[in-house]
Amino acid sequence: MTQKQILNFIDGQYVATQKHFAKHSPLDHSVIAQVHEAGKAEVDRAVAAARAALDGPWARMTVAERVERLYAVADGINRRFDEFLAAECADTGKPRSIASHIDIPRGAANFKIFADVIKNVPTEFFEMQTPDGRGAINYGYRGPVGVVGVICPWNLPLLLMTWKVGPALACGNTVVVKPSEETPQTAALLGEVMNEAGIPPGVYNVVHGFGPDSAGEFLTTHPHVDAITFTGETRTGEVIMKAAAKGARPVSMEMGGKNAAIVFADSDFDAAIEGTLRSAFVNSGQVCLGTERVYVERPLFERFVAELKRQIEGWKIGLPEDPDTKLGPLVSREHQQKVLSYYQLAAEEGATVVTGGGKPAMAGALADGAWVQPTIWTGLPETARVIKEEIFGPCCHIAPFDTEEEALRLANDNEYGLAAAIWTRDVARAHRVAQRMKVGISWVNSWFLRDLRTPFGGAKHSGIGREGGVHSLEFYTELKNVCIKL
Ligand code: NAD
Repeated sequence: MTQKQILNFIDGQYVATQKHFAKHSPLDHSVIAQVHEAGKAEVDRAVAAARAALDGPWARMTVAERVERLYAVADGINRRFDEFLAAECADTGKPRSIASHIDIPRGAANFKIFADVIKNVPTEFFEMQTPDGRGAINYGYRGPVGVVGVICPWNLPLLLMTWKVGPALACGNTVVVKPSEETPQTAALLGEVMNEAGIPPGVYNVVHGFGPDSAGEFLTTHPHVDAITFTGETRTGEVIMKAAAKGARPVSMEMGGKNAAIVFADSDFDAAIEGTLRSAFVNSGQVCLGTERVYVERPLFERFVAELKRQIEGWKIGLPEDPDTKLGPLVSREHQQKVLSYYQLAAEEGATVVTGGGKPAMAGALADGAWVQPTIWTGLPETARVIKEEIFGPCCHIAPFDTEEEALRLANDNEYGLAAAIWTRDVARAHRVAQRMKVGISWVNSWFLRDLRTPFGGAKHSGIGREGGVHSLEFYTELKNVCIKL
């Protein structure tokens, strides 16, 4: 049987290359596709196509015409929902119930929401006095930045890629996307939708490959890329920032997290359990906003740990198509090894393993898949690496606290600063704690409740810049002041 081929998408056409790499299923490590790796030549072609498209029909479209096309892209994704769903589940192994509710609908919505933003956003206007008494006016004009390099991770592939491509295109830019080597399929499939929606050739391009000495590096070091938007690990982000320094190119960085939840004794217990379960374990813990550190006020501690354990032990581990599956595998064997090494480290650091801590027993071929058990620890000192470093797996450590000050100190004592979840019924305390968390997003009595018009990004090592709603325009447009003497 010939294997599925995943091609690059350059200047409106699918492009094969001689060099391929295998895409393995996370479920059983079988090879599910051959991915055509872009070399320097293909990245050059993609960037050149994107540059040329900046001066083509795309540049001459009115905002209304662009908006219409972006709506058509969103509709195109929804029309081919099942294909996107199948591709995303095949690449990631995630349950269909998650991808059909989060990944694919949000992938489509990202085009609509930013089309609406660009349609409705005002620009600033100032009248000024001049010595001759006739005055002058100033107005802000938003033009595109140019060719945007989009570097994506594997955990929410379509959702996070379109979160960048949606606003970039809404603002009139062109893009070259480098999807994660682990999840190449949906970015490639989107090329067909772009063509069907009448997006001109060269506006959306996809190059496949890895980071160093591959498509990722070729793209981010390319002198004709005008701006780089990145989602991924902080260490990778640092390398990309160095590359972007040449030519003083702007970057938007959405990076790692080691997010805390603070559960006060006055919280709605069931809601706090439900929210913490989701934040620690959904998508097998592979969510940048996920909770890996839980601080629970001492009177509630024992009960909270026992209930979280009881509930997570009821989550079914299984195949994507099984509607009862709550936990899929991790994305790859490599990531499985990383997560299991932290499970091992937790034991060495002296953790009490409340549940999990290893690999689940999977039958037949699935034994070769990237499965890990959902895991809860207690009893680690705050200096433990398992508490300090991002693991990105279905696991969390739970520790007790006695005062609000202590909870804040513990939660903020980390290099990362992406998100926090605070569980309390005390409104004044909710505001106080939410505002003092050194993070980009504080959720109170919720988690992953996202209004796409709001600012999204990380503090400290979790990122630079904010995207979402009008904030995305700050990055994806060049704001020019036009001053007219009257
Ligand atoms: P990663 O940093 O390993 O890879 C991300 C992308 O960068 C991939 O496409 C990869 O090929 C590319 N890359 C790697 N080295 C490169 C280089 N030298 N030059 C150019 N490109 C390079 O991240 P990952 O493992 O795919 O994703 C998981 C990470 O992403 C976690 O740290 C997670 O917290 C983070 N993340 C952050 C957010 C956020 O919004 N802040 C969202 C999702 C994921």
